This record gives sequence, structure tokens and C-alpha cells, in this order.
Amino acid sequence: MSLKSTPIFDLTRLDYDVYADASRIGTWSSKPACPKCKTPRRKRIPPLVIEWNEGSDVMADVTFTGGLEDIVVTGRVRTFIKQHRLSGVQFGAVSMIQDRWLKKPLRPRKRRRIWLPYEGPPLWELRLTSCCHLNLKKSRWRILTECPTCGWREFEVDESTPLEKSLFVDRTTWDGSDFFRVHELNLVLATQKAADLLRRSDFTNLKISRRGAIL
Ligand SMILES: [Zn+2]
Repeated sequence: MSLKSTPIFDLTRLDYDVYADASRIGTWSSKPACPKCKTPRRKRIPPLVIEWNEGSDVMADVTFTGGLEDIVVTGRVRTFIKQHRLSGVQFGAVSMIQDRWLKKPLRPRKRRRIWLPYEGPPLWELRLTSCCHLNLKKSRWRILTECPTCGWREFEVDESTPLEKSLFVDRTTWDGSDFFRVHELNLVLATQKAADLLRRSDFTNLKISRRGAIL
């Protein structure tokens, strides 16, 4: 077994001005809230339902549709990931909705948006299939509360930790995937191999930053 640590990177949004922005609307399964701590136990199920926001009609290769975990990618990102055989992800259907009062104008307006019926490139949800646990001690996270019934936990994070050294994944919980999540945080993480390949691509609206390591 190698004792060398494996660097990890996160995938975040690069741009907040140029590209079209969408909000995640659904879909969630309806499970009752935890009887003990009342935390909602809803779970995202396919398809990812999104609604385009006003502001831009320029489609990015990567669109963050809510938190940093619900990512929509264009068909060329999907092809790239499949060609390089990067593991830990699947591609799910994306469904779009639009307010029924909204109608595409005949002439372009000042305030732009992606209109339905959709005429852009094929879109896919980047669905993470691999999920690990953080090494809380190394990441300097402290458990504030923990629900004995559902396991929901609230953490205190040491804000003074530099971002590039703030997340350490427990290697025994990592299945070797190129992309993965952690149970404790909604974020898409990638190995050095996946990060290097994506950095050499020309995909728009994607920022790749060092976050820590798998230990
Ligand atoms: Zn609970």
C-alpha cells in the first residue's frame, strides 16, 4: 500500500456574469422528515429538472444549477469524460420547465435567457456514483450535533484553514474513482488525473482548485 497522499481538486463555477444560469427545481423523492431532529430526508432522483434564469443566453459547458453538486454538462463534456474513461460519474437526463406566461420574443431583448423549446446543445446531469467520507480530524472539522436516529450531523469548520488544504478524504472509503463526493459536503471532487485532463480542455465555466488529499 502506498503511503503517498493523493491530491484532490474541486469543480466549481468560474463565471457569474457571462453564461446562462439555471436553477434546480426537482425532482425529489418524498420521504418523511426524521422524527427526532425534523431534518427533511428528501433525496434527489432523476431526471434533474431545471429552469433557466434571466440574464444570459450564452450556454456554458458546465452549469451549476443550485449548490455545487447539481451540475449540468454539454454533450461534449460527456463525450470527453467517456473517451478518457474517467470513472465515478453517470449521465442523467435533464428536463426543463419554463413559466407558462413566458414567450420567446420575436426580436432579442436586453434581458436575455435560454428559451424553451430548447434549441441548444444536448445537456446531461453529471451524476456522481462514488461517495467517500472526510477524515474530520485532518480536515479540522468538529461535530457540533449528531442525530442518534438519522445520523444527521452539524459541523464546525476551521475557517482559518487554507482552502487548498481544507479537505482530507479517508482513503479506506474511496473506491478509486476519478470523480467522487463526500457525505459531509455537497461538492464534486476529482483526482489529479481528472483535474489535469479537464484543465487541458477548453470547457467553459469550470474552475478547478486544489482542496486537499486522500490520506
Ligand atoms: Zn434525525
